[in-house]
Amino acid sequence: MGTESDKKHYESEYEQSIQKCLRCSICKWIPQIQIKSQKYASICPAIDEFNFHSYSGGGKIILACSLYFGRMELSQDIADIVFKCTECGGCATACKYLNNLEPLEVIQELREKLCQAGIGPMDKQKIYGEITVEKFNPYNEEHSKRLDWIPDDIKLTKGATTVYYVGCTSSYRRQEIAIATARVLTKAGVEFDILEEERCCGSPVYRTGQIDKFEPLMDYNLDLFKKKGVKKVIMSCAGCYSTFKAEYARHRKYDFELLHSTELFAQLISDGKLKLTKNVPMEVTYHDPCHLGRCSEPYEEWHGKTVQPMPTVYMDIPPKPIRRGTNGVYEPPREVLHNIPGLTLKEMERIKEYSYCCGAGGGCKAQFPEFALNTAKRRLDEAESTGATVLASACPFCETNLKDAIEASNSKMKFYDISELILMAMEEK
Ligand code: SF4
Ligand code: SF4
Repeated sequence: MGTESDKKHYESEYEQSIQKCLRCSICKWIPQIQIKSQKYASICPAIDEFNFHSYSGGGKIILACSLYFGRMELSQDIADIVFKCTECGGCATACKYLNNLEPLEVIQELREKLCQAGIGPMDKQKIYGEITVEKFNPYNEEHSKRLDWIPDDIKLTKGATTVYYVGCTSSYRRQEIAIATARVLTKAGVEFDILEEERCCGSPVYRTGQIDKFEPLMDYNLDLFKKKGVKKVIMSCAGCYSTFKAEYARHRKYDFELLHSTELFAQLISDGKLKLTKNVPMEVTYHDPCHLGRCSEPYEEWHGKTVQPMPTVYMDIPPKPIRRGTNGVYEPPREVLHNIPGLTLKEMERIKEYSYCCGAGGGCKAQFPEFALNTAKRRLDEAESTGATVLASACPFCETNLKDAIEASNSKMKFYDISELILMAMEEK
């Protein structure tokens, strides 16, 4: 990906990261200062599930180190460990408290190397990768049916420079989110269009190391927006959002404004264009999607140099900006919830950049459904511990997995996307 010099740069970052790891295991935990109870102190779903060091961010760095120095070779056993990870980025956020490494980058690099060697991705991920290339969505649905969910009351403005990019999961599986989002936009008087030509953002293939399948999707979507003169893109899927915000921006420049729907809704409320007047007497807890929170932080360009004053000691001059999860989207969804009359927000212990993953990401829902479900059950347990009766979030993928956990646990909790809660609070027009 990118130029030869980009490749060298990434290779040298990879080498530095694997040598600088202190093997301290801090990446298994919420930073100490943030821990509120032993029960909810973990940040790594892979460690909670498989309970063996190699599955942690630092453990995967040790694998990468052994591979780099030729002590091991890429194998199916290594792939099994590297792909049993939701790519939630919790390890990267935790590591900043001691060593400031980027274990998530190393995990992604390992996945790409496994794919390039023909050992990865795992079988289900490979199948949906091939389907995505053929059908432009990972669900094996016909592209011609992508907009079938749009009800009559949604007002689209052909040629509008604001576009709602719906994404595959809301187009085919979680249509209630697409409908609620488009309805709120319509009722708030936003002039927007939905492009029937939109294709998968590429997140499912990117996160499983299938870069050769990711790049054409990215190029297609960015070229499409350019051709249509799009100035603003709204997304209701956290996965699509972080893919555009972080990965697209890392690989290719684009000049449209990108907003998650919760960011736009918070703006509309503050501008008085979205009026929430109806009482919604619910006690709600909010799950921060990893890809709306810590993983949506953009990459910052760095043009310094790395010096090596002694073996294994590296210094970046000036210090290199590292994605630490601090600048994710945390306040807009909360601002929306605080503005819904009658609604009480009851926070979980692990929130914002220290949130605990729902378990669906990184290709795990397709490949390791038991791991994904167990992780969602752990998150659900934390949600229930708040005393809230409603679990809200802002991502169709989180919704699917958390709803599966609610059903599998016979929980009484209800799940709503934030867009659905907004609709409940709006007067009929
Ligand atoms: S990745 Fe960071 S937190 Fe994890 S073991 Fe290495 S230095 Fe410690
Ligand atoms: S990305 Fe998440 S699941 Fe994977 S090693 Fe890091 S904390 Fe664990």
